[in-house]
This record gives sequence, structure tokens and C-alpha cells, in this order.
Amino acid sequence: MKGIFSWLFPSPPSCPFCGRSRGNFFCCDCCWEELSSWRRDLHPCSLCGRLLPLGEGKLCPFCEKAPPPFIARAAGPYRGLLKELIWEFKYRGRRSLAFPLSQLLGQVLFRDLKGYRPDLLVPVPLSSQRLKVRSFNQAELLASSLALSLGLPVEPLLLRVKDTPPLVDLSPRTRKQLVQGAFRVEGKRRLEGRKILLIDDVFTTGATVGACAEALLLSGAAEVIVLTLATGIINSPPSFL
Ligand SMILES: [Zn+2]
Ligand SMILES: [Zn+2]
Repeated sequence: MKGIFSWLFPSPPSCPFCGRSRGNFFCCDCCWEELSSWRRDLHPCSLCGRLLPLGEGKLCPFCEKAPPPFIARAAGPYRGLLKELIWEFKYRGRRSLAFPLSQLLGQVLFRDLKGYRPDLLVPVPLSSQRLKVRSFNQAELLASSLALSLGLPVEPLLLRVKDTPPLVDLSPRTRKQLVQGAFRVEGKRRLEGRKILLIDDVFTTGATVGACAEALLLSGAAEVIVLTLATGIINSPPSFL
């Protein structure tokens, strides 16, 4: 009997983040409001994408000092619901979040990068040790899901040639030194003139994606745009500059 009712009156699709009904959008209005409300107070640095208070200049203090070899954008600051979702996805293995989280990345492409169309999506690789512990690379799942929606190819063509310790709590300078030369493009593959969309989950100091971008550019890529789920907020000039 229940089967007939659910066929006659199908329940509305549920939000992949909170389980409430969601209408036609990929998540419900409440989650969308929470995930996009930062736009009322913050705007991305036009190069690295870290978030600055509205009304502050176009560039953050880091990029004013040393412009990175890429442009980056993120779906929002690493806090609140977005932080919880990344935690669930990355550390609690909730892989079903890959598709809805990749839709957040798609929204950033559409909204902040004006429908930018790359030639290829490339995920940031995990170190082999971390891959053993986690059993999946979150950046690869995100890149595959986004590539599927966009109808674009995805290739995990970056290799980590040097394992690095977890970079949390290290200064930007130490991070940069540790990841320098840590990546190379598989099989000396040439990427002449190709526009690459590099995917990762969180942008912290940009040291990891910077080292990845350098490897891709050295192999001939025309440009590298970085897309992550979350990034940091810069409230005031950081003291460690
Ligand atoms: Zn929801
Ligand atoms: Zn910046």
C-alpha cells in the first residue's frame, strides 16, 4: 500500500546537505542561504580568491607582495556549514557529498568566473601515505563530479614526487619551501596551450596549489585557474608578512 502512495504522491527531493525538501535547486533554500550569505560582507581577492571585507582593495596583502602564478576562487569561507560538510566528506568518508559539493564549485565557475570554460580538470593529488589512511582522494572525487556536470575531461595527471608532512600550523614561508618541487606532470606529458582547472578542497596559503600550478605551467599549460570549496578570510594585514 505504501508503495502505491509513494508512486501516486512522490515525496519531494531532499537536500543532500540537511535532508529537508529542496525544490528544483540542488540544495534547500536554508542551506543555500547559509552557504552564500558571506557575499553580503566579503569579496574575493582578484588573484588568490581569499576573502576580504567588502570595500577593501581588489588585492589581498599576500598578492600585493607576491602575485601567485594562478587565479583562484572558492565557494566560501572555511566556517559554519561549509566547514562541517568538508569535514564530513573528507574525514568521515561521506562520499555521497562529492556531487552536491561539486555543484557548489560549478556555481563559482558560473558566478565568479563568468562561465569560464577550461580544457581540462586536474585534481590536486594526495600523498600516498594519506591516500592509504583515507582510501580516497577528495579532490579527485570533486573533480570527477564537476567534470561530469560540465561535460569536460578530468585527468589526474599530477604526481606527488615528494611526500610532505601535514602543513597545518606551519608558516606560509615554510609551507612554500616544503612543497617546492613536490609535484610533476605524469610521463613528461606536454600540455601546450591548455587551460587547466585545478581542483582542491581547501585553499589555505596557496603553497600546494602554487607548486601544482608551477608543474603544469612548466609542462606548457597556457593558464591555471584554481577552484576550491573553501578559502580563508583576511580581516587585517597578517602579522607574519
Ligand atoms: Zn538543506
Ligand atoms: Zn590574494
